[in-house]
Amino acid sequence: MSDAHFKVVIIGAGPAGYTAAIYTARADLEPVMFEGMQPGGQLMTTTDVENFPGFPKGVTGPELMMQMREQAERFGTRMVPAMIDKVDFSARPFKIWAEDGTEMSADTVIISTGATARYLGARHEEKYHGKGVSACATCDGAFFRDLNIMVVGGGDSAMEEAMFLTKFAKKVTIIHRRDELRASKIMQKRALDNPKIEVMWNSTIDEYRGEDMLSSVVIKDTVTGETREVPTEGVFMGIGHTPNTMIFKDQLELDTAGYIITKPDVTETSIPGVFACGDVQDSKYRQAITAAGSGCQAALDVEHYLASLEDA
Ligand code: NAP
Repeated sequence: MSDAHFKVVIIGAGPAGYTAAIYTARADLEPVMFEGMQPGGQLMTTTDVENFPGFPKGVTGPELMMQMREQAERFGTRMVPAMIDKVDFSARPFKIWAEDGTEMSADTVIISTGATARYLGARHEEKYHGKGVSACATCDGAFFRDLNIMVVGGGDSAMEEAMFLTKFAKKVTIIHRRDELRASKIMQKRALDNPKIEVMWNSTIDEYRGEDMLSSVVIKDTVTGETREVPTEGVFMGIGHTPNTMIFKDQLELDTAGYIITKPDVTETSIPGVFACGDVQDSKYRQAITAAGSGCQAALDVEHYLASLEDA
């Protein structure tokens, strides 16, 4: 692919990227998609998706991603199983380098690299991903009906997740490493006033335990260092997300948390011709359907941008 030039390069393969690919491919823009390390993104680590319209019986995250991928390929998207590890947006056409050093150029770039939920990294955590440990209350909450579960974190996300989870759970225990919450006062009050929610202060999870599914955690007191085993069927991470923007940080305007800033009502970034969609530019909604919607917007914005170049 050396010295290749493309009209549209899409970086990142989640719902936003696949939707952008479907639209740009159907518009005959011959998109090339770099799928990165984990094609499908965060949905590959969830089980059943019950809130994506069009699937009344639910669909698994990987199945939904496979179908979006197939649809993007059907209209001619070229899929490349590689990471992009450098970009240069300082001149046109834009330059892009794949991990093996291959250099390409592009008239437009759609960034859909997503965000990664932060996990604690405690002992045996990975073993229970999808088996009691989750980072998405909206995705997995309904599987914990009438169970005792925990939410880790003291910010707005943790409060929001805890409150959402009380719809299903018998009891929600917030595990927070300090003795005061970071969340806004109103969110704190709502959470603390909820009779199903209690807080375990100065606490963190040291280890996850269980046969096949999670059944308990070892809680460590962050002040005294003492540990004790506490039964629980589910642990939800609420310690934030990290947008995957490392390679763009010197090229595009990012907010203080590292999310790409897009112009109001469009997906264009601080560089005309470079567009961003999905979780990489959205710390608020973070849903598969909103990501897909913004992928569609990015594709339409690319079409308008390329047409405006031709008219100029
Ligand atoms: P955040 O405000 O950065 O809070 C992260 C929380 O996780 C903090 O309480 C932090 O503890 C804890 N934490 C981080 N790393 C940890 C670790 N390794 N071990 C244990 N605890 C850890 O993140 P966020 O709650 O995701 O919110 C991000 C932004 O989105 C904020 O600006 C927030 O206001 C906004 N947001 C708003 C809403 C809303 O208004 N509805 C909802 C969600 C998010 P410490 O407090 O000790 O640092």
